[in-house]
Amino acid sequence: MNNNTSELYIHIPFCVKKCLYCDFLSFASDDKVKEKYIDALCEELMFIGKERCNTSLSSVFIGGGTPSVLPAELIVRVMECVKENFTLNGEAEVTIECNPGTVDEEKMRAYFGCGINRISFGLQSVHDEELKKLGRIHTFNDFLNSYDAAVKAGFTNINVDLMSDIPGQSVDSWNRTLKTICELKPAPTHISAYSLIVEEGTPFADMAEEGKLDIPDEDTDREMYHMTSKILSEYGYERYEISNYAKEGHECRHNLGYWTGVTYYGAGLGAASYYEGCRFTNTSELPVYMDDPIDSFKLDEKLTNADRMSEYMILGLRLTKGVSITEFKERFCRNLSDVYGREIERFKAEGLLAEEDDMLHLTEQGLDLANFVMQAFI
Ligand code: SF4
Repeated sequence: MNNNTSELYIHIPFCVKKCLYCDFLSFASDDKVKEKYIDALCEELMFIGKERCNTSLSSVFIGGGTPSVLPAELIVRVMECVKENFTLNGEAEVTIECNPGTVDEEKMRAYFGCGINRISFGLQSVHDEELKKLGRIHTFNDFLNSYDAAVKAGFTNINVDLMSDIPGQSVDSWNRTLKTICELKPAPTHISAYSLIVEEGTPFADMAEEGKLDIPDEDTDREMYHMTSKILSEYGYERYEISNYAKEGHECRHNLGYWTGVTYYGAGLGAASYYEGCRFTNTSELPVYMDDPIDSFKLDEKLTNADRMSEYMILGLRLTKGVSITEFKERFCRNLSDVYGREIERFKAEGLLAEEDDMLHLTEQGLDLANFVMQAFI
């Protein structure tokens, strides 16, 4: 058992309706199923807290799906169960993902009152026509009302998810999205800016195949990509990961833990866990999970030392500060240069990697070509 702090992820798979690009484990459901799901989830949380996790939690992340689609009392129940069965660090970051249009001030107050201290809004765009193209259920005005409700309820740590490469999006409209969000009062403490990925099996994939998906071309994508870090840095957001930006001291602790190989426990449908060098995943079959939430997980893989070194590099290089050479040696009893010396020298010579003090990190150009660089560490 790992005696350091660990993280807890809780999956709520329900959404009002499926967005056209979404391949997450999420679906619409009725109130009875939602209640039964929370019964099962609490049973699993009790089990993890008592039987598997003897460590304190540095973060809890209630994600989905759309957790905020549940009645507030069900989220409060989940949080009570977490507090009864786990020890939360005094400073633990507790996040809930919310979609605009599914929350009001009362719900936000209930979240705040039960110990949630960070809100993550899935907005994507400030333009209603772009939101419509994505199949989102909300308008920009819904977002403004939800954001206002969060602020009034007392939340000071708020993330907003934004998306580039939306069908029909232009450089100008992306520029307006970024600036509008940065100029909110109070401004969000964190912004995640991802580009759309057309995933197999989604309506967008079918539309792309039929030539009906009007996504920005590669030059426009690159222009938007470079504009993102430039604008966000002008507004005081520091890029700390390929797609994540934060005001000082507000990096998402949950994601940072994941990228630095912290032990994490996943509860809920399809949730993944990583502990004692092994990765586990819960079933994604709702009836199977609700029938037996404790025994419905399987071992995916036991990571070898080589797997763990590779993962340490791939995840750590996503962070702009990079990976610590000393920490690598402490974790794996090997020198980084003995294991990956050839790759590191090659990328340094090509200007994609740089070393400063103890840290090896991607350069600006390396961040642009991150996937290419990371391939070499697999
Ligand atoms: S709200 Fe999020 S999880 Fe739900 S369907 Fe849309 S993209 Fe998927």
